[in-house]
Amino acid sequence: MLHVSIPARRTGNSLAARVMTPANYLRLRRKASGLTLEQVAKRLMPRAGFRPMVVAFLRVLETDGCTAKHRDHIDRLTSVFPLDTDVYYQLVNDPADKMPRICSGCGCSAYDPCKNGDEVCGFVAPDACNRCLGETAEREAA
Ligand SMILES: [Zn+2]
Ligand SMILES: [Zn+2]
Repeated sequence: MLHVSIPARRTGNSLAARVMTPANYLRLRRKASGLTLEQVAKRLMPRAGFRPMVVAFLRVLETDGCTAKHRDHIDRLTSVFPLDTDVYYQLVNDPADKMPRICSGCGCSAYDPCKNGDEVCGFVAPDACNRCLGETAEREAA
């Protein structure tokens, strides 16, 4: 007999519940691509002298509570790593119940799924895609 109580709503099929913010979304998408802020800056800014400024700017964008004032800034990031500008602005503007589903492991969504060749990921929990949870599930099924 285990003397632990498991809250009914948690199925174990979910990653750490976190409130998704625009800043968190950017951070997750960048990390899912394996890029550092410096690498992103390098691709955005050909002139090395300006890169520290770009890094500082990106760091601000990834700070909770900060949002990009100009859509262009997010659009430019989409050329460096996969990210959806509309999803970003939904997180900025829309009420919580209108939010798109976003994986709290990698930040992917139906508009911007993980790709593995021709395959795209799907959601297996409200906040997790099968690429982030898939390996765990496969191990449990075996
Ligand atoms: Zn994921
Ligand atoms: Zn995914």
